[in-house]
Amino acid sequence: MRDIEPGEIVVIGAGGPRSLLPFGQVKSRFCVFEHIYFARPDSMVERISVYEARKRIGRELARESHVDADIVVPVPDSGVPAALGYSQESGIPFEFGIIRNHYVGRTFIEPTDQIRHLGVRLKHNASRANLAGKRVILVDDSIVRGTTSIKIVEMVRRAGAREVHMRISSPPTSYPCYYGIATPERDQLLAARYDVAAMAAYIGVDSLAFLTIDGLYRAMGEPRRNPAAPRFCDACFTGDYPIPPVDAGDGKVSVQLSLLAELA
Ligand code: SF4
Repeated sequence: MRDIEPGEIVVIGAGGPRSLLPFGQVKSRFCVFEHIYFARPDSMVERISVYEARKRIGRELARESHVDADIVVPVPDSGVPAALGYSQESGIPFEFGIIRNHYVGRTFIEPTDQIRHLGVRLKHNASRANLAGKRVILVDDSIVRGTTSIKIVEMVRRAGAREVHMRISSPPTSYPCYYGIATPERDQLLAARYDVAAMAAYIGVDSLAFLTIDGLYRAMGEPRRNPAAPRFCDACFTGDYPIPPVDAGDGKVSVQLSLLAELA
């Protein structure tokens, strides 16, 4: 029916739903990564269709970082709507060049490097029939450690692609999430260690570009990000944490739950 607001408790009883605001209202800063990657594409999040938002993100990406190529290929499955938007905006045909095995879990939360590498190999397979001799724009949602991207790019080149241009439908992931998403610590995030040119060399592509933070906000219906009052949590791109993380003294950074309660 509607989303539950920050600080709100909804009680559903015999008399129907009741809304309580015992903590006072707090301005929402919803996770923008839900729109880019986490949420199912058939979801409505904050009255926004996730599928349509991802296509708009792809269109923005095409406007910001055009490159001449023969086909636009999504890294399945989460890259698909953004790649469609990219293709529609650029006029470059959309093709499925990588086929996804649906029986293997999401790779960036797998525990060891060995399992992660194996996971990538089991998870995707490049289609030579669609890729051989082509200049390919690969569209993916994010680069975290870079492990998956290296394998995907190798796979696409082995399938005969002439050029590989990577386009990412989010800004560089430079900061960890402390709000429950299992991202690695900062020293393991590729974007925290390298600039875009060095990242391109590391993952082995002919060119690499990310969506800008303003492009992301445009796709979400705003003219640009307002630094004084951003509409979303975008801390993994900007380092602007809505609830500040604290160092527990053992080198581990986390968000204190007491702080959450205080803010509420
Ligand atoms: S830091 Fe914010 S935007 Fe990034 S994944 Fe966590 S909650 Fe989402």
